[in-house]
Amino acid sequence: MARVHNFNAGPASLPLAALERAQRELIDFEGTGMSIIEHSHRGKAYEAVHNEAIKLVRDLLGVSDDYHVLFLQGGASQQFAVVPMNLLPAGKSADYVLTGGWSEKALEEAKRVGNARVAATTADNKKYTRVPKQGELQLDPEAAYVHITSNNTLFGTQWQEFPDTGKVPLVADMSSDILWRKFDVSKFGLIYAGAQKNIGPSGVTLVIVRKDLVDGGRKDIPVIFQYATHAANNSLYNTPPTFAIYLMRNVLAHLASQGGLEAVEANNRKKADTLYGALDELSSYYKAPVAKDSRSTMNVVFRLPTEDLEKKFVADAAKKGMVGLAGHRSTGGVRASIYNAVTLESVETLVAFMREFAKG
Ligand code: PMP
Repeated sequence: MARVHNFNAGPASLPLAALERAQRELIDFEGTGMSIIEHSHRGKAYEAVHNEAIKLVRDLLGVSDDYHVLFLQGGASQQFAVVPMNLLPAGKSADYVLTGGWSEKALEEAKRVGNARVAATTADNKKYTRVPKQGELQLDPEAAYVHITSNNTLFGTQWQEFPDTGKVPLVADMSSDILWRKFDVSKFGLIYAGAQKNIGPSGVTLVIVRKDLVDGGRKDIPVIFQYATHAANNSLYNTPPTFAIYLMRNVLAHLASQGGLEAVEANNRKKADTLYGALDELSSYYKAPVAKDSRSTMNVVFRLPTEDLEKKFVADAAKKGMVGLAGHRSTGGVRASIYNAVTLESVETLVAFMREFAKG
C-alpha cells in the first residue's frame, strides 16, 4: 500500500490508525451485523460512539461543565452566521479582528445579522502577514463578543497567545488548529471548528460554548439555528452526520492513546521547527512572508523566486509522493499544511526535497 505524504489544507491527512479502525469496523460494527452508518442515530450502538466522542473532546481539551460540546452541520461557514444569530442581539455590536479571508467572511455574515465592527486588522493590502498585538486591539467594552480566527489557513499565521477581552466573551474560529495543543478553554465564550483538518472528515462542526451564552442566546431565530436546541438534545435534535462523528471518535481516541495533547503539541512543534528551520537556512532561495512571532504551526507558506518555479516545485514534489503543496488559489505560492496527522517523517521528506530543489 502506498500512502502519499499528504500536505492538503483540508480535508486533510487523517491518522492511519483511525482509518484502519474504520476499515476493520466498517461492515460489522462491534458484532451488530451492520456498519455504524446503518444504525439509527437513536440506537444504543450509535449513542455510545456519539457520547464517547463528546467525552474525548472534553477530556483532551479539559472542557469544564460550564460548557456544552455540540456537533453541528454546515461547516465553519455556517457558524459565521449562526454565531451572530445567537449571540448578537439588536442594539448590541460585535467586535471582529481581521487576520485573513476567513475572518473577513465571518464579519460579512455578522453584518447581515446585526451591528459588527472591525476591532483590528492586519490586512496591509490583503497581505495579512501577522496577527495583531494586544495593544492594537480597539475593543468596545460593551461588545456582545470579540471574534478572532485562531489560525489563518490561507496566510499561515496563528495567534500564539490569545487576546484578553476582559468581560466580553471571546469567540474563536479554530477550524485549522483546534487540538494542536492544549489551551485554556475557560478564556473563551465560544469556539467553533469545521472538522476536516485536525478532527476528522468534513461534515461535522465542533462547537464548544459556555452554557450561560446558550441560555441567554436569542430565541427569535429558527429553532434549528439555536444553540439551545442542540444543547437540549445532546446534538441529536436532527439526524447528525453519524459517520463523520464516528470517524472523529476514532481520531480523538487515537490522539488520547498517543499521550493526549501534550504529546501532540511536542510533535507539532518539532515538525514546525524542522520546516521553518529549513526555510530560514535556505532564505536566499525560499521566502517565508509571515512575521516570525505569528508563524503558524499548522500551515507553512513560502514563495520561490518565480511563479514558474513554484509550479515546478509543486509538480516535482507530487511526482515524489508529496501532494497538496499548492498555495490557496487566492494567494498563490506554496503551502505545506502539517496538521496533527502529518508525520515528522513527511516533513523531513519535504525538507530534503526543498534542499535538492533549491540547488537547481
Ligand atoms: N475558517 C477557517 C479558518 C478555515 O480554514 C475554513 C476552511 N477550511 C473555514 C473557516 C470554512 O470552513 P467550512 O468549509 O467548513 O465552512
